[in-house]
Amino acid sequence: MSRILLVEDEAHLAEGVRFNLAAEGHDVRVAADGTVALQQLVEEDVGYDLVILDLMLPEVSGFEVASRTRAAGNYVPILILTAKDEPSDLVRGLEEGADDYLTKPFRLDELLARVRGLLRRSRWDDVSADRESPRAIHIGDATLHLDRFELRTKDGSCVSLTTREMGLLRALIDRDGGVASRGELLEEVWGLRPDTNTRVVDSFIVRLRRYLEADASQPGHIVSVRGRGYKLVR
Ligand code: CA
Repeated sequence: MSRILLVEDEAHLAEGVRFNLAAEGHDVRVAADGTVALQQLVEEDVGYDLVILDLMLPEVSGFEVASRTRAAGNYVPILILTAKDEPSDLVRGLEEGADDYLTKPFRLDELLARVRGLLRRSRWDDVSADRESPRAIHIGDATLHLDRFELRTKDGSCVSLTTREMGLLRALIDRDGGVASRGELLEEVWGLRPDTNTRVVDSFIVRLRRYLEADASQPGHIVSVRGRGYKLVR
């Protein structure tokens, strides 16, 4: 069972989503506005496994909820809900720290699939002995299990990567040390146009560096190539 915070001001929609997530066995709490959401995520840090966050909220917007949650050091996975006709909202939501998105109106099975994908990633947990897997590769002192989306670090902690984190890492691995441009990554990993003006790639690179680099200010594995993009040095 996972604890999910659903931040949605449309009561009818919130109840429908809550009902279906509860039917999947999750413990769901609904926050009808951004202020209540921030109380839960920042002031009390209740320990949610996932946040489903509508961006269009009264008073405190979903953008602000995401950015203040991240600024407070809470890296709970966030799935944003955006209106279909506002692609710029989607991009900004990702920049503010969201992990994935769904456009309204969405199908229930799509929502449940995204939720499952995001719940694969849990917080930093200590995991016992390293199981050898043929689908594992080493990046410096870390081991990436491609089949399980898990990254095990030298000190034994384990992070389950989100779909997009894994996609980004995979895109870099596939280039075998070659450079990937931001435009290529936007298209391959996020399905966005390569000329989208956004910091999404860079903000996800920061996240991967937190997992992989001994000193994120002096990255030795995910390396910036000035004017060109990023490459992975294993
Ligand atoms: Ca709304």
